[in-house]
Amino acid sequence: MIPIVKPFIPEPEVLMPALQEVLYSGYIAEGEKVYEFEKQFGTYIQNPLALSLNSGTAALHIALLLAGVGPGDEVISTVLTAEPTNVTIKLVGAKVVWADVQANTGLLDPESVRSKITDKTKAIMLVHYAGMVCDMNAFNAISKEFNIPIIEDVAHALGARYQGKPVGSNSPYSIFSLQAIKHMTTIDGGILALKSQEDFDKGRLLRWFGLDKKVARLDNDIKTPGYKYHMNNVNATVGLIQLQYINEIVGKYIENGKYFDQALKGISGVELLDYNPDTEPSYWLYTMKVDNRAGFVKMMQENGITASELHLRNDRHSLFAESKVELPVFDAFYEKMVHIPCGWWLTQEDRERIVDVIKKGW
Ligand SMILES: *Cc1c(COP(=O)(O)O)cnc(C)c1O
Repeated sequence: MIPIVKPFIPEPEVLMPALQEVLYSGYIAEGEKVYEFEKQFGTYIQNPLALSLNSGTAALHIALLLAGVGPGDEVISTVLTAEPTNVTIKLVGAKVVWADVQANTGLLDPESVRSKITDKTKAIMLVHYAGMVCDMNAFNAISKEFNIPIIEDVAHALGARYQGKPVGSNSPYSIFSLQAIKHMTTIDGGILALKSQEDFDKGRLLRWFGLDKKVARLDNDIKTPGYKYHMNNVNATVGLIQLQYINEIVGKYIENGKYFDQALKGISGVELLDYNPDTEPSYWLYTMKVDNRAGFVKMMQENGITASELHLRNDRHSLFAESKVELPVFDAFYEKMVHIPCGWWLTQEDRERIVDVIKKGW
């Protein structure tokens, strides 16, 4: 069975000596490996203000706190995402306000988002779903016009680009997940990429109880309580090794995605998606619309290929009952949306067979 997600773990000959060294080094907590990893990850996303954390969820939580989101506030978001995007909004006490999506991408529709803005809107949460990038030209203009910060959830979109630059330095807050099944994993981990040194310094305190690691423990003075969200040297070591392969691995997702963009064109029952202007997806999953999705998924299964919608639309959870609204464009999109495997593990033969199988119909 060809899986839809699969962690890339480097060869033991490369990974194990580095892991052994750090494990027995006498220093496995947050230390030099973590700071080196932040530096190198920052270089990769072309944003030096990359704060490492122990999950993408922690990054979302801190981003919301830094954006000043709290009880009584509203955050505009999408139902098409993994749950942490929206659970963290509730965690800080705010209301999730759903906006509708673009019919041809499934990503948030700038005009729908604009129509949901109120005096209480404190942030706009943009999810670059499955590696596709939101219409940042339009969203940057809305953010500027209403003076509302954007939080970019880049958990699915490491290596995707906007205006030729890696996603992660456009908005005041961009979050990455380094969880098991993402483009790159540190086993678990996350990055909050920021635009201001002030936010970076505040985030640094929030990730470790409110204590300042740069000041001696006995001279410390906690002013604001923080969390235990930091990354440790062991996860950072995995990350440093992963970064040696990142261009190759992300490159494979992109190459496979571009292959499907061409090879699946014009097949009866398949509707391909568009990509927003000035954006380049990193194809964490290959996403498209198909007629008779249940039949499609079954047919793929019978051919040893996983196909799935993967995520439950988030408005199905009781937690978001107060947010219920009509989302007609999304309803139509979700009915037909399906993901097929697109990652580094696909061979040339695999992807040709996937196309052949789809061409035969279902
Ligand atoms: C994985 C994921 C997260 C959370 O990341 P963790 O590292 O698992 O906490 C957030 N948003 C999206 C869209 C995700 O897929």
